[in-house]
Amino acid sequence: MPASDLSDTSRLAIHTQTNKPWTLEECLAGYSAAGVRGISVWRHVLEPMGAEKGGGMIRAAGLESVALVRGGFFPAFGESDRQKALDLNRECLDEAAAIGAPMVVLVCGAVPGMPLAEARKQIAGGIEAVLPHAEKNDVVLAIEPLHPMYAGDKSAINRMAEAREICEKLGSQHVGIAVDVYHVWWDPDLEEEIELAGQGGFISAFHICDWRNPTRDLLTDRGLMGEGCINVKRIRGWVEDAGFTGWNEVEVFSEEHWAEDQNDYVERIKKAYLEHG
Ligand code: ZN
Repeated sequence: MPASDLSDTSRLAIHTQTNKPWTLEECLAGYSAAGVRGISVWRHVLEPMGAEKGGGMIRAAGLESVALVRGGFFPAFGESDRQKALDLNRECLDEAAAIGAPMVVLVCGAVPGMPLAEARKQIAGGIEAVLPHAEKNDVVLAIEPLHPMYAGDKSAINRMAEAREICEKLGSQHVGIAVDVYHVWWDPDLEEEIELAGQGGFISAFHICDWRNPTRDLLTDRGLMGEGCINVKRIRGWVEDAGFTGWNEVEVFSEEHWAEDQNDYVERIKKAYLEHG
């Protein structure tokens, strides 16, 4: 399908966390009914049945697993905690393979009190350490730069450039970047960095939503495309010009939208995607 085809929902995927009130079964039923074919699976929705069975359910529903969300959280002050993080990421890679997802999205981690440069070093080292397991499973480790408001405790990787540098250093087709408009829309180098990431073959995923004004909560007040100030279409254009032909993943954490009827909400997601995505 041509990357420029903006008129249909065939490349629309939804993160299960977008419909947080729903179980995996409910997500599968709701997305199928709405004609949404891609699902990005948050780990906790797999807990009740396990990844093997969950993967079977996704396939039986005719949906495609787009990503397992989320691994990462590499930096830690002690060696044993760093090892625990590596084990967790290997587990994520196994789960991704079990549900047929081609990537694990990485929230890379940050620890209050640890200098960002040290955290970044540990992140690169952690990704390198689990890379053989990613290669064995044929699953990509997709580094998601997070908005700098999360640099203190969630991720020391905050710009596309930092993610790209790790991709370049490791030079593996199993390390890439998840471009999330919520986290990178403000970056003055965004267009150029997307182009560079495309040239390196690093763009693994594209996440969409919007930045509400005012933002009432730093975690759970994302908007649907068109509800805020991000020009999603323009960024999508840059990503597609850089060669990306994958899914457009709607990832919205919103107390406001979680309180609504989720079936109606999925219909509004589709409408927002077609008009503003
Ligand atoms: Zn994201």
